[in-house]
Amino acid sequence: MPTDLGPTSPTPSPSSADARNADAVPVIDLSKMSVDKRAAMEVAESAREVQWTEPSFAQQLFMGTFNRTLVDSFPRQNAADQAIGDAFCAKLADYLTANLDAEEVDQSRTIPEQVISDLFAMGVFAMKVPKQYGGLGFTQVNYNRAMMLLASHCASTAVLVSAHQSIGVPQPLKLFGTEEQKQKYFPRFCPQPGKKGTISAFALTEPSVGSDPSKMATEAVLTPDGTHYVINGEKLWCTNGPIAGLLVVMCKTAPKIVAGVERAQITALIVEGNSPGIEVVHRCDFMGIRAIQNGLMRFHDVKVPAENVLWAPGKGLKLALTTLNTGRLTLPAACTGVAKQCLRIGREWGAERQQWGLPIGAHEAGREKLNFIASHTLAMEAVTWLTSHWADDHAKDIRLEAAMAKMFCSEIGWQVVDVTLQLRAGRGYEKGSSLKARGEKAYPVERMLRDMRINRIIEGTTDIMRLFLAREAMDPHLKLAADLLKKHTPVGTKLTAGAKLAGFYTGWYAKQWFNASLWERHDDMGILSGHYHYLQATAHRLARSIFHAMGLYQERLERKQVLLGHLMDIGTELFAMAATCSYAIRLAGERHDTTPMTLADSFCRESTKRIENHFRDLSGSDGKLMNQVGKGVLAGDFAWLEGGVQAPG
Ligand SMILES: Cc1cc2nc3c(=O)[nH]c(=O)nc-3n(C[C@H](O)[C@H](O)[C@H](O)COP(=O)(O)OP(=O)(O)OC[C@H]3O[C@@H](n4cnc5c(N)ncnc54)[C@H](O)[C@@H]3O)c2cc1C
Repeated sequence: MPTDLGPTSPTPSPSSADARNADAVPVIDLSKMSVDKRAAMEVAESAREVQWTEPSFAQQLFMGTFNRTLVDSFPRQNAADQAIGDAFCAKLADYLTANLDAEEVDQSRTIPEQVISDLFAMGVFAMKVPKQYGGLGFTQVNYNRAMMLLASHCASTAVLVSAHQSIGVPQPLKLFGTEEQKQKYFPRFCPQPGKKGTISAFALTEPSVGSDPSKMATEAVLTPDGTHYVINGEKLWCTNGPIAGLLVVMCKTAPKIVAGVERAQITALIVEGNSPGIEVVHRCDFMGIRAIQNGLMRFHDVKVPAENVLWAPGKGLKLALTTLNTGRLTLPAACTGVAKQCLRIGREWGAERQQWGLPIGAHEAGREKLNFIASHTLAMEAVTWLTSHWADDHAKDIRLEAAMAKMFCSEIGWQVVDVTLQLRAGRGYEKGSSLKARGEKAYPVERMLRDMRINRIIEGTTDIMRLFLAREAMDPHLKLAADLLKKHTPVGTKLTAGAKLAGFYTGWYAKQWFNASLWERHDDMGILSGHYHYLQATAHRLARSIFHAMGLYQERLERKQVLLGHLMDIGTELFAMAATCSYAIRLAGERHDTTPMTLADSFCRESTKRIENHFRDLSGSDGKLMNQVGKGVLAGDFAWLEGGVQAPG
């Protein structure tokens, strides 16, 4: 999934989403930007949700408040919902074990038709479809439990199901579809005896449109009688596209004049996969998730009824970004599933393999790896379940936390698999099928690593997640300081804004230095109390750092991506620490043992080290040199270093 500088919310309806966007005020000074950049920023800004109606843990964190009441009492599933998830996952696990050979799927690049139709019959493609339309109506927690299980077994199949359901037609239809649209399309995803189910896809990316949708070229033109749109253009990397019966296609539609300026409109249309004029130009082949059906799709005069618009003309980007809000939560669950597999492999192989007179896991370097895998798996799980529960509760704004969960779990998950591969060494690099052929246990770490890599790219790359987080984290400051930050604001307005700002920041800034973190102890957290204390104090330090950076760089801050990245990574680590400590307390109580606390303690120590490194890098002096070298590379200053090898491609 592409661009991510946009809105998110638990499960908005069109009207609530409209309300959250009602008072969109541009707070960023676009006047100094190039025409292209300004156009891109305008599109991204117009797709943002501007209101914060429910509390956001992360937003408060960036403003200096560690609001532990929002993370304490880690949520748990009610018994009835848990029983539904238990039964479904048990059935799914049995089915997968008996019927789906993930290694074979990887090698043949094919998910067997029979498996797909069996999964349809089980309702796997309708987990998110509300019950009144024949679906399973799962909560986000149960959906993610099933996705975690599926991803731990076969990543390609997990992506097939997720692309269909987390971002494909069911999710935007649920959020933004009309009653007629829901009645027409939902049943096609549900188990129906004797009928083949419909797989759906989401098509936004184009050859020239990746993270930035403002240059979208695929166009939908309304026919003169207003009854149809006619689509022309190309969509790249459309997962499920080649086999989809239904697609959500993002198209450029007639521009709108906003404040005297023409603004691009992006509209989401539901398109039948068998419509005349749709061509699968190429099935793409990737390093991992090799069995997914992902294609370059061409649309030539594809006629779509006007009533197939989702939400409303011009709302397409907002719809895509809002869909991603909960859609993005599947990925953390999938990554956690893989991390849990790694933990099992690490435990078994760490004890079994003997070198230099000891099991490899008993050497200190082995223990370090096992510590990393175990403690970070707990953190990934904590972040996954906390955000999933919050998505179900609808009582918190999760736009920041969903992005953090995606970024954290995909980045850490990648490291967990890499560490596991290192522990397996030669056997980690060898394919599972090859291990099996020579009689060894076929741990598929090589495939897991290949499959895992995509998670740092799809549904918003890590860089884009950081930019998205930075924009949202800065929002309270930007709103307060909007008039001051803009270069062309009249002096009178600047003076009023300055006075307002001074009033707020005098008290706020003092509080970032002198606050409860100086005396509060969090003794109720047991061995984790020190981490809660660190969290509280570091939230203030983070807020101070953001404030100092804003003062220092002013409107140039938007271009200081590396510095912003460090700040956002600090916020994300703090969120993960809070989630992990709270989760560990709950698990320790339930299990009547202290092992979750031990793991949480270890994770928080590792996380603290990373946070301190980020703070050090904030004030590091290598930014200038880094920029100079990067610029020099583009200018060809160091091309001499490329000599002596074959040119790629
Ligand atoms: C296997 C696979 C499945 C996919 N499935 C779908 C799908 O179902 N539907 C769909 O629509 N799309 C899909 N995509 C597309 C995917 O969402 C995009 O690859 C992703 O959005 C990034 O776009 P890009 O690859 O064009 O990278 P680009 O946008 O070209 O970015 C290249 C690099 O530059 C960085 N970058 C970009 N902009 C900035 C910036 N402003 N500041 C700093 N750094 C920046 C990026 O982080 C990245 O590192 C899929 C892609 C793959 C590989």
